[in-house]
Amino acid sequence: MMLRLYNSLTRQKEEFVPLNPPEVKIYSCGPTVYHYVSIGNWRTYVLTDIVVRTLKLLGYKPKFFMNITDVGHLTGDNLGDSSIGEDRMLKATKREGKNAWDIAKFYTDDFLQGYDELNMTRPKEFCVATNYIDEQIELVKKIEEKGLTYKIEGDGIYFDVKAYEATGKKYGELSDLDQVLEGARVEKVEGRRDPRDFALWKFNKEGKLREMEWDSPWGRGFPGWHIECSAMCLTNLGDQLDIHIGGEDLKSTHHPNEIAQSEAATGKEPFVKYWIHGAFLLVDGGRMGKSLGNAYNLHDLKERGYSPLDLKMFYLTGHYRKQLNFTWDALSAAKSSNMKLRNKLRGLVDVKPSNKQDLSAAAKEYEKKFMNALEDDLNVPQALAVLWTVVKDSEINKEEKRYLIDLIDSVFGLRLLDKELLTVEVPQGVIDIAEERKEYRKAGEYDKSDELRKKIEDLGFEVHDKPDGSYEILQLSK
Ligand code: AMP
Ligand code: ZN
Repeated sequence: MMLRLYNSLTRQKEEFVPLNPPEVKIYSCGPTVYHYVSIGNWRTYVLTDIVVRTLKLLGYKPKFFMNITDVGHLTGDNLGDSSIGEDRMLKATKREGKNAWDIAKFYTDDFLQGYDELNMTRPKEFCVATNYIDEQIELVKKIEEKGLTYKIEGDGIYFDVKAYEATGKKYGELSDLDQVLEGARVEKVEGRRDPRDFALWKFNKEGKLREMEWDSPWGRGFPGWHIECSAMCLTNLGDQLDIHIGGEDLKSTHHPNEIAQSEAATGKEPFVKYWIHGAFLLVDGGRMGKSLGNAYNLHDLKERGYSPLDLKMFYLTGHYRKQLNFTWDALSAAKSSNMKLRNKLRGLVDVKPSNKQDLSAAAKEYEKKFMNALEDDLNVPQALAVLWTVVKDSEINKEEKRYLIDLIDSVFGLRLLDKELLTVEVPQGVIDIAEERKEYRKAGEYDKSDELRKKIEDLGFEVHDKPDGSYEILQLSK
């Protein structure tokens, strides 16, 4: 089989044929570092990691970049309008009483820590928007030379969508019609020729000194959000990319704008061959949002006793093109899956993997099933089901099992056989059950206490009773 991916541009699953194999050029839209990254954002980055790891497993050489937005992302951007709203970074400076550079540093460091805790493949570079100001200015100049920009006095330099269309180009191919209309409904900006036009460079409004602003041929100011990604893609990956990834919200304006800017500047199309969009994470069945208080981050999870890899395990239960509903119960189920898996795999830690050519027919079949699932538009839930059958299988030998677990974890990155993760602290939930069990034993209700022993075992632990009535909880060693 061959890798097939759903391409948002053509709205169908397509065979993946890179522009210049074995290299695969990938760009993923990264975080705006004005706040902790939410579990919604992380879902999209984990998708990116799965794409990169799958490509590696298939023998490709991914050349992968992700940006860090530390300037210019206005609150209006995600509503489909890049000319209105407040600058997210400045909003954070007011909230926290720090300067914009300190805010960016703090949340960038936090993002990088979370990124590693989720055990994701680092890109060749996390490109930071403020390190690419010259490149962004150069790109705006190129677009200007093509006659596709205009100036709104005191506001900014805008991309002229109608003029772009007049050159025979299409705008907004990624977005659905209703999304375009919705985008067009937002606030009217004085002087804008078309509601779809967007800011490439924003002027500093008179009298308001910004901490982040630069000189440009058009006046002092700062770049628009969309131009950042185009500039960093073109600089690092050249005029054409194989894969571009982001959350599904970016289909309506951010990505169409990236396409328009890039293709206008380079004259080459397509700017990106395959567009991959991850469906949103919901929380308790509804929208996740900072204002709703449910945009949880990794710290919130850790405070409740969950690890980033528990979150990753939860993500793996859903297909990337379907919305996934986060609940604390679902996370708890993912945590016990993680514990059960690790316990069942303990015996393999020091086993040497079998050679590929020595695999039995049964082991080969597992490998095939796993690869087929991934190759079918990254069917991770199905690939995860293969992991469980491998773990429970008693026919294949240890060496083969080790081979398969290594293979599977090279994509999931759950650190399944990591020794460090095998000695875990006993979670409070297990201690509570053990305490309850102790009471039943005291009362001579052994049926009930046995039930609870079973429950504890399901969570990957066992209780050893001592003659004095106390007990010890150990991790199951099987
Ligand atoms: P932002 O910082 O809002 O620009 O988002 C960063 C990345 O996370 C983008 O690729 C978004 O599409 C994605 N994203 C934002 N919210 C969610 C969500 N609830 N679920 C999945 N991805 C999201
Ligand atoms: Zn982007």
